[in-house]
Amino acid sequence: MKTIHVDLGDRSYPIMIGRGLLDGGFNLGEYVAGTDCLIVSNDTVSPLYLDSLRADLGGKSIASICLADGEQYKTVESMEAILDKLVQSGANRDTTVIALGGGVVGDIAGFAAACYMRGVAFVQVPTTLLAQVDSSVGGKTGVNHPQGKNLIGAFHQPRIVVIDTDTLDTLPDRELKAGLAEVIKYGAITDIEFFAWLESNMDALLTRDHDAMAYAIQRSCELKAEIVAEDEREAGRRAILNFGHTFGHAIEHCQGYGEWLHGEAVAAGMIMAAELSDIDAESRDRLRALISFAGLPVAPPKTGSARLLAAMGMDKKVIAKKLRFVLLRRLGDAFVTSDIDEQSLEQILEAAD
Ligand code: NAD
Ligand code: MG
Repeated sequence: MKTIHVDLGDRSYPIMIGRGLLDGGFNLGEYVAGTDCLIVSNDTVSPLYLDSLRADLGGKSIASICLADGEQYKTVESMEAILDKLVQSGANRDTTVIALGGGVVGDIAGFAAACYMRGVAFVQVPTTLLAQVDSSVGGKTGVNHPQGKNLIGAFHQPRIVVIDTDTLDTLPDRELKAGLAEVIKYGAITDIEFFAWLESNMDALLTRDHDAMAYAIQRSCELKAEIVAEDEREAGRRAILNFGHTFGHAIEHCQGYGEWLHGEAVAAGMIMAAELSDIDAESRDRLRALISFAGLPVAPPKTGSARLLAAMGMDKKVIAKKLRFVLLRRLGDAFVTSDIDEQSLEQILEAAD
């Protein structure tokens, strides 16, 4: 088992990564203060892992709630259902909310934990690659609004993140690849060596080689933990984690949430952001080749450039009505800017026409 520390003063927490952690390899109960827990999961993940998680919490009083599966349920209504369950089960300030599932479950459950009694303890047990390398770490929680993704939410750090890499064995291929998009992102924005490692090991990752996967998860979590420790609330550097996301969120919005997976939209978005960046053609080609080799889209869907642009205007990261982009200085080094070449932007968006 590997342990990574997210260094946030009195809100610091460990990320545990290993095989079989939900199969008796880890006693989560020892890390949960208080006696009461509410496990939040969904109707796909519950049948697979709820019993194992319950066993890891031996001695605790455990309630659970099972949400419907899907990004379309990442709503205020689902969050309310969790709050209702907390009230009904007599939860108090010492209750711990535990998210068991992908990023959708983690984001909703975390937001409910942030709100219930102004904040109760929260634990992440992520079961998708995307959740293991990205959404479970860093404390962003929330739900979607019909007008935009993640518009409603709060920062609420977990007390611990438990990553059992064996849970990836049941993950559909398409979801695995979507997670790889965020893994590639870390290499592209901060770590050229990791990017090169991914180029050499992508075939092993695609066949779910356990050692390769464990390393990719560990390195991704280390890189994210470093950035979050430096800039928890995204006042500055943390924004580079949104590489590909200004375009990606617009793609998701135009397609309707759930049609394209988040990671797929981010993959196409990273290509678009690289095109907007002032980098050499070889770096662009390397990024495109890696994304393509991972089986991810390298161009946006044909939603129309005008619609994409309108959707980008709605991005909540818009500052003073200026669009913000994360661009590459070079492969492995990203920065945030509003100073972009509008003509190139128009050309890039034309890929959606
Ligand atoms: P998801 O939660 O919808 O999970 C994908 C699918 O896989 C679902 O059908 C789920 O039920 C299923 N699944 C989960 N684990 C499984 C397993 N082990 N075996 C079989 N099936 C399994 O999607 P996701 O990609 O994990 O997360 C996407 C969400 O995360 C988006 O809403 C996005 O906004 C959010 N997100 C949040 C952050 C953050 O910092 N909070 C960062 C990135 C993404
Ligand atoms: Mg993302």
